[in-house]
Amino acid sequence: MQHNDPDLTLVTPTAPISTATHGGRAKCLQRLARLDLPVPLTVALSFEAVQRIAAGEMPDMHALMEPFGATPLVCVRPSSEDPDWGGPGAVLNIGMNDEVYKGLREKLGEDAAAAIYLRFVQAYALHVARLDPDMFDDVSLEGPDGLADVLRAYEDETEEPFPQDPAVQLAEVLRSMARAWSGTTARLLRQAKGAPVDAGLGLVVQAMALGLGQGECGSGVIQLVNSQTGHKQITGRYLSQSQGRDALQRGTNALYLERDSRGPSLEELAPEAFEALKAHTALMRQRLREEMQAEFTIQNGQVHILDGVRVQRSARAAVRIAVALAEEGIIPRDEALLRIEPRALNELLHRQIDPSAPRDRLARGIAASPGAASGRLVFTAAEAQASAARGEPCILVRRETSPEDIRGMHAAVAVLTERGGMTSHAAVIGRGLGLPCVVGASDIKFNLRKNALTAPDGREFRAGDILTIDGTNGDVLVGEPAMLEATQDDAFQTLMQWADDVRDIGVRANADTPADAQTARNFKAQGIGLCRTEHMFFEADRLTVMREMIFADASKDRRAALDRLLPMQRADFAELFRIMQGQPVCIRLFDPPLHEFLPHDRAGHRELAEALDLPLSDVTRRCEALAEYNPMLGMRGVRLGITVPEIYDMQARAIFEATILASRDGDPVVPEIMIPLVSAKREVELVKTRVDAVAAAVRNESGVSFTYRLGVMVETPRAALRAGEIAPYTSFLSFGTNDLTQMTYGLSRDDAGRFMSTYVQQGVFPEDPFHTLDQDGVGELLQIAAKRGRDASPNLVLSICGEHGGSPESIAFCRDAGFNYVSCSPFRVPVARLAAAQLAVRDKTG
Ligand code: PEP
Ligand code: MG
Repeated sequence: MQHNDPDLTLVTPTAPISTATHGGRAKCLQRLARLDLPVPLTVALSFEAVQRIAAGEMPDMHALMEPFGATPLVCVRPSSEDPDWGGPGAVLNIGMNDEVYKGLREKLGEDAAAAIYLRFVQAYALHVARLDPDMFDDVSLEGPDGLADVLRAYEDETEEPFPQDPAVQLAEVLRSMARAWSGTTARLLRQAKGAPVDAGLGLVVQAMALGLGQGECGSGVIQLVNSQTGHKQITGRYLSQSQGRDALQRGTNALYLERDSRGPSLEELAPEAFEALKAHTALMRQRLREEMQAEFTIQNGQVHILDGVRVQRSARAAVRIAVALAEEGIIPRDEALLRIEPRALNELLHRQIDPSAPRDRLARGIAASPGAASGRLVFTAAEAQASAARGEPCILVRRETSPEDIRGMHAAVAVLTERGGMTSHAAVIGRGLGLPCVVGASDIKFNLRKNALTAPDGREFRAGDILTIDGTNGDVLVGEPAMLEATQDDAFQTLMQWADDVRDIGVRANADTPADAQTARNFKAQGIGLCRTEHMFFEADRLTVMREMIFADASKDRRAALDRLLPMQRADFAELFRIMQGQPVCIRLFDPPLHEFLPHDRAGHRELAEALDLPLSDVTRRCEALAEYNPMLGMRGVRLGITVPEIYDMQARAIFEATILASRDGDPVVPEIMIPLVSAKREVELVKTRVDAVAAAVRNESGVSFTYRLGVMVETPRAALRAGEIAPYTSFLSFGTNDLTQMTYGLSRDDAGRFMSTYVQQGVFPEDPFHTLDQDGVGELLQIAAKRGRDASPNLVLSICGEHGGSPESIAFCRDAGFNYVSCSPFRVPVARLAAAQLAVRDKTG
């Protein structure tokens, strides 16, 4: 055979074989041959050759079979470009016929010879002759009698004798495997795994290393790490007198490989073969620069390596494997960083459902915050708190959540909502708290009056029933499947340190509470990029004062109420500064419309009337007067700051006083103050004048000097377009891409979940723009603003603090646009650090 025949290539160390023409298995076998490993003789068929076979044009069968001698005994295995794309199952023992059988009976014994022939006849019947698997139901599949029965059954069904010519057998097997690859089901399956439409299949024809016969014979698989943890551990199984992957089947008497207290092992049975296997697999790891699983047979004590595949691994194992390979100098650190998919880190950061656990899925919604948790259903925030007080984990079910649910969310282990999308309240808070969350589960009927959920299949679940929320993939499951705990072990920390060593864009966290800030710090965020202050006013002791402030008619009354809030805010900020230890903390001034702080029902109005000692009608009228048709576009953000300036005055004072306090006990703090929802430069001018005045007053009163930075949140299209005239008033611009997306599309971030899946399915939007930054539209606004802002003010600091800040694609976009940092939910910080590192590595290596 020609070494350079592009269609039929003998696998030798120098033959022209590549993954792109012959597939991954053929290439791997060549690598094993280069390592001088005992690989049986193999011929690789190229993608093109296999394509022609599928079209009915067979290769030169004589040339193909020649290397295997006069009585060939071979197997055929698939070799697709990426092993994950699958392929038809291997067919073993091709070449078995009555004559070879006779010879083998003498050489290997009756049972072994019969088993070899029988296995082939069965595979041939199913995959080539396409007979019904039931045909073997009444046949004993053992020994020479079993073989005779199987051959008879084959002849009865096909009305032909079993083909005896090895060339015919092989040609038929090749044809059936080539055709199986081009079938619709196989095509759809591999496309679902990311294979291109024209993905090719190569095939390898390999001399059989039998695994059956006299002396120690058998087959198995070996790998040197544990697939779940990535720790070094020899794993695999071996089964005497077996072929293929029989050793992995349940119910066999397979042996452990290494000596094991649970049962007999290959190490005890055939120590030399075991040592050889260990050495071969270690060599594969070293030279192929990857943890490999070897498929092997032992034939009369001799080891043969039939195949090597990349070890299957969980995300946590992937991290440990990559770090170990780099620490042993087998791969460079940069490559270890590139080997981990950033989003896969979520698996290490959150509890997950054990992938091997059965899942009873009742519905699916939007996977809004990763991780999984099981608990009893509760339907109000108060019940969630009561449940937590009893020590019972609970899942908070709401049509959608609002700021009033915050404490219920803190008490719950997971949240499920009927409405909402990736940036709805539940989703944002859920990610901030690291709380598994599924939103927009509109397939489920939420009957909140009856405290019940009805699944699409009609099953009903009531308060107290146990469900599981899988926020990683959006599943809502019945019962409590087994979980895997989160682990941020030493390997994870090492990888993260390497990421920080190379990355060139900053990563901060969005953190509102001391707990968030602590998480941010644990994940080594470089500061807080967005502290939303509004939730601080929902604490029970503050809400009433807040409401008093809202109801005050005169500025002095408002100020009096705010004076009572001041020490609480000061303590909030001082605590954040203390946790962040001198790192920058960017505090956004008050953003939401005031009516969010008022009760919505009659009972609430009555309670408030009592608390404020006002007539009920007054309270009702004031609540109605504050209602807006479109609150997201109404009196919120800086608009409130300008019309009710006392709130921002109080917040600015609290920030400055906290700065003085925190700087006294720890590293000096330079606070950042951010103005939300700006659309005109005059807004910035007005707020800046007042904040500067508060700073001057605090300096005068305290005699302590401090500095601060004032910035603008760019979340209206107009602010983006007018960045050139806004920039001179500010130290930084931070893009709030949640609102900016909402306003650029004219798409409500709270309601879009209802039709988003239809829009994405029909290709109107390629992705949910609240989830994946719309680089064309919203992205263009970011670029325009960045350019105009920096042209006007070259040292302007640019960042993104919308939910997109944590996604690898947005980070790439922001880095290209020259941003200084991204800010995202604390639990996404590690993902962002790794994604940013990969961008720097890719740039470095070209
Ligand atoms: C934004 O709009 O992108 C943002 C970060 O602010 P919020 O989500 O609080 O409106
Ligand atoms: Mg916003």
